[in-house]
Amino acid sequence: MIVAASLLLAPGITGCAASLKLAQLVVADNDRELRARPKTSPPNSPSHPPILFLAIDGVDRGLLYDLLRKGELPKLASLLGGAQPNFPHAYFDDTLLSTMPSSTMAAWTTVITGVGPGEHGITGNEFFIREERRLGAPAPVSFNDSNPTLAIYSDDYLDSLLTVPTLYEKMREREPNILIWVAIHQLYRGADRLLFAKSTILAQAFEEGLIKLGDAVSGKPDRPDRGLYEKLDKDVIAKVESDLDGKSPVPDVLTVYLSGTDLYAHVAEEGPVEARRAYLREVVDPALGGLMDKLREKHGLEGRWVVLTSDHGHTPVLHDEKHALWTEGDDSPPGLMKKAGYRVRPFEMDVNATDDFNAVLAEGGATAFVYLADRSVCEAAKTVCDWKRPPRYQEDVLPMAQAFFLNNQDGSLAPRLRGTLDMILTRRPKPYEERDLPFEVYMGDGRTVPVGEYLAQHPHPTYIDLEARLRDLAVGQRGERAGDILLLAHNGDREQVEDRYYFAGLYRSWHGSPSRQDSEVPFIVANPRLSTAQIQQRVSELLGPSPRQQKVSDVLLDLRSGDAPPLSPVRAGHAPGI
Ligand SMILES: [Zn+2]
Repeated sequence: MIVAASLLLAPGITGCAASLKLAQLVVADNDRELRARPKTSPPNSPSHPPILFLAIDGVDRGLLYDLLRKGELPKLASLLGGAQPNFPHAYFDDTLLSTMPSSTMAAWTTVITGVGPGEHGITGNEFFIREERRLGAPAPVSFNDSNPTLAIYSDDYLDSLLTVPTLYEKMREREPNILIWVAIHQLYRGADRLLFAKSTILAQAFEEGLIKLGDAVSGKPDRPDRGLYEKLDKDVIAKVESDLDGKSPVPDVLTVYLSGTDLYAHVAEEGPVEARRAYLREVVDPALGGLMDKLREKHGLEGRWVVLTSDHGHTPVLHDEKHALWTEGDDSPPGLMKKAGYRVRPFEMDVNATDDFNAVLAEGGATAFVYLADRSVCEAAKTVCDWKRPPRYQEDVLPMAQAFFLNNQDGSLAPRLRGTLDMILTRRPKPYEERDLPFEVYMGDGRTVPVGEYLAQHPHPTYIDLEARLRDLAVGQRGERAGDILLLAHNGDREQVEDRYYFAGLYRSWHGSPSRQDSEVPFIVANPRLSTAQIQQRVSELLGPSPRQQKVSDVLLDLRSGDAPPLSPVRAGHAPGI
């Protein structure tokens, strides 16, 4: 995940509201009991196979598989049933793709709900909820505010933005006594416990602060100290290990989320590839080794499925104001929108009920969403728009699309933005309660063409399955949350780093594009009692051709639906290690 946060570091200096949230988390200690289990009901549901679900943020498929196959992650290899020869108890999928945008909140929500962003409504790290005239921003990008990220863990913030059931709720419906622990993942509705380490939450929420602190520690400006990120993941694993030592049975389903890979990759001076390789080798692998040892000690790995995936990859970008299309100044995206005659929503979590904005910009790395009001009912300044109404296509949407289109050619409104956009996508608006139309590519002068047709004429060899993934994002009950206009920056289509742009503050790496590099995610399913071929048959049937992240939830539900493996009091000498 990525969070642009305020520059506040030490506990207690985080501003009023944040301090309050922190205080709540501190009081809650290191976990939250999410549901009360009646004293008379069994503590778990051991008649189905247990699952360890490893969710590692910001790691693309090629990078992780390469490290595993080269033997550079020996502990993870052992957790997957051993590497010799060729991971005989694990299936490495080579087909799964991230959501569009390939970003944390949209992707993980898709994994945990089994439906695409157009249905679950978490279309990005930030988005606009027009019928409530408010922003949903589980990880703000266009402004600095740490509260929403803290609220994910203290107040079910991301869960509360969801209108569809989670994987855990579906599991519990089938098995009321199932015992589910979730370590720090953003969605946990339906689980028994949320486990977290305070340092991790702090680091996620105050990421920018962490960078500054890193500078101070290293003594070199803009040189983040990796040690601060390492602590996050180590603390989370340590928390899970210590809870496994408690009285509770080992959970039937244990989800463990590691975020340091992504947080560090965004800022690392050595670039995201080198940064993540070293981080996985030196931090993640040893930490998973500790978790494995503890689970083994508790006989918690016997017959347990181990499933590993990630949300998106990474693409290096330049850390300067030319390439970071943020929100400040006349030459910025909102600067252009203002010059085109729109009143832009201020960049903060909450704005006044009397604010007269008629346009909203939500940012997210390679993509940004633009939302427009029906300006006929709030024409005069200081008139509040009725955001429950859809905008008018001709009068509200097209003039904005045209302004971005022309400026992209000639820079007449905002010179800095000239030539920064690869595509401007739009569609005829629908009322928010209705299913939305797919995006088409805006060609100027009010004309649009379907995405497939456009790509046939303008090949984008690095983009993968763009039309279908845009459909997942835009078409659905909540498809309007992907905006009336979607801006896709030149980023994943560009070979040279100096030709890539991103909608965010200054970073060294981002994601969100439809490129292979951002979109191909790992998906590994392992079981010590089965062969690769057996697992592959089951999993690839469930995934089907060209799978996207919705399918992960189907696989997890299916793995849990089988019979529990027989307990093995006599361990055969030749049995695999776990
Ligand atoms: Zn990220």
